[in-house]
Amino acid sequence: SMASPALLMRVVASAYSVAEKAATIVRNVMSTGDLGIVEKAGPNDLQTKADRLVQMSICASLARKFPKVTIIGEEELPANDVTEDLIEDGHCEEILKKPCPAQYTGIKEEELVIWVDPLDGTKEYTEGLLDHVTVLIGIAYGGKAIAGVINQPYYNYEAGANAVLGRTIWGVLGMGAFGFQLTEAPAGKHIVITTRSHSSALVNECITALNPDHVIRVGGAGNKIIQLIEGKASAYVFASPGCKKWDTCAPEAILHAVGGKITDIRGNSFQYNKEVKHMNSAGVLATLRNYDYYASRIPNTVKESLVP
Ligand code: AMP
Ligand code: MG
Ligand code: MG
Repeated sequence: SMASPALLMRVVASAYSVAEKAATIVRNVMSTGDLGIVEKAGPNDLQTKADRLVQMSICASLARKFPKVTIIGEEELPANDVTEDLIEDGHCEEILKKPCPAQYTGIKEEELVIWVDPLDGTKEYTEGLLDHVTVLIGIAYGGKAIAGVINQPYYNYEAGANAVLGRTIWGVLGMGAFGFQLTEAPAGKHIVITTRSHSSALVNECITALNPDHVIRVGGAGNKIIQLIEGKASAYVFASPGCKKWDTCAPEAILHAVGGKITDIRGNSFQYNKEVKHMNSAGVLATLRNYDYYASRIPNTVKESLVP
């Protein structure tokens, strides 16, 4: 008989369904028109009712199934009881059927850390730039991002009423990534993608030094990684603190699963063990291909301005 699926595949299969439930919540809150916006650190650091409800939904749903896994979510919330309507107990059957990469078959619950960004691109969500928004569930083992789920609740929202709204992208290191069409950026063109709402002099100085053919400014770390793996941009460059471990964990796993690379601006890889500092203080540099081209052109003055 078939052995029962490995823990990692059960977690990813559940995270897939939990992320789809999250997307429904994101769309429902928007359609009520009452976003319940709260400023966290300031006007460019917002939390909405969707951020709050989705975090409760994801964390409670995964904790119920995998009680010994460490789950770290972006939002600080009062320890309220989560209502049953927020719980998702389903899983994606297709993911469960796939064999777990051999190096991960022995993982135990207490060895996993799940990084949750319930709504990435909140500023853009409040401004109606809905396709910038993603839900991020990243899974780490031994300090490395090894699997991830990115749901884009408003994928296709400009395609008309008959289009299927939303999609779920997922990936596991050693297995690949699914739910999108892997596409290379145009050869020989340097298209840099960066922040829309968290720019600074240093962010712009770094981009100028790369002499890109084109710069795309959009919200969301998840959104920017999607644009890399779909060939819309060749490098995600963010020479600033501000991005956190929950922003990069799921995107990193998916990008690495298809042969890309993400580091801080100085070239250091990110760590995802539960004790790690949340802030990615030295920024972000990510590419699907040609990482070295961009890394070698980041000025030392920019690198020295960012302390990990
Ligand atoms: P962005 O590219 O501006 O959408 O940023 C990617 C992620 O990092 C989002 O979750 C942002 O909220 C977060 N982030 C980046 N810079 C800052 C900042 N200065 N303050 C708060 N959050 C930030
Ligand atoms: Mg975020
Ligand atoms: Mg968020």
